[in-house]
Amino acid sequence: MNRNSGLQRMIADIEDEVAFTRHMIGRDHLDQQVMAAMREVPRDAFVPAELKGAAFDNGPLPIGHGQTISQPYIVALMTDLLQLQPEHRVLEIGTGSGYQSAILSRLCRQVYTIELVPALSRAAQRLFQRFEYGNIRTLTGNGYQGWPEHAPYDGIIVTAAAGYIPPALIEQLRPGGRLVIPVGKPYGHQELLLVEKDFQGGIDTRHILAVAFVPMVDSEPMIDR
Ligand code: SAH
Repeated sequence: MNRNSGLQRMIADIEDEVAFTRHMIGRDHLDQQVMAAMREVPRDAFVPAELKGAAFDNGPLPIGHGQTISQPYIVALMTDLLQLQPEHRVLEIGTGSGYQSAILSRLCRQVYTIELVPALSRAAQRLFQRFEYGNIRTLTGNGYQGWPEHAPYDGIIVTAAAGYIPPALIEQLRPGGRLVIPVGKPYGHQELLLVEKDFQGGIDTRHILAVAFVPMVDSEPMIDR
């Protein structure tokens, strides 16, 4: 299958899965601009060379270091839930391959992304340079603390499963902002949560659906030089 038909199949698979889960996610279609970003960003560049043939499958793929690039449907859904506006600034925890960061960068003003594994962060940075995604800033660090220097954020997205919602992330969310995070047991039951902070600082949490993410690790990055 050539690249173009692979990409078209990926988009069709995402749309099918959205329709299939419409009662859980509360709508029949995702935002058109989110779907345009899914068409634009070359997922095949973000997967290891030997897996290029599976790059447009609607599933997660290994990216080394025990980590994965998320399933395209989940990337699209989580991006949609953030309801991004062009002027928004977003924080992502778990850069991984950089694919989710790249999608976000097409839809908002600035992306800040934190990754625990230095080698993954470096590989993602190289891709951002190659594709001239100039509005992504990377940090190697522990996302449980967020990135206070640039707070508050209009949206925060966590792409690893935490045991609880890290308090620093709630603090760093702008009133009116949205946090999308998988919460649950490592390799056990996990739920995707949408957390909204109101203008009085109150928190509203909605369960969206069951998901399977790699665990969010609470440690400082290993030095790997
Ligand atoms: N968004 C990624 C998905 C990566 S998988 C993509 O599009 O490819 C989750 C990533 O979270 C892994 O790379 C893992 O190393 C990272 N991670 C786990 N715990 C973390 C933490 N406490 N802080 C920052 N990154 C973390």
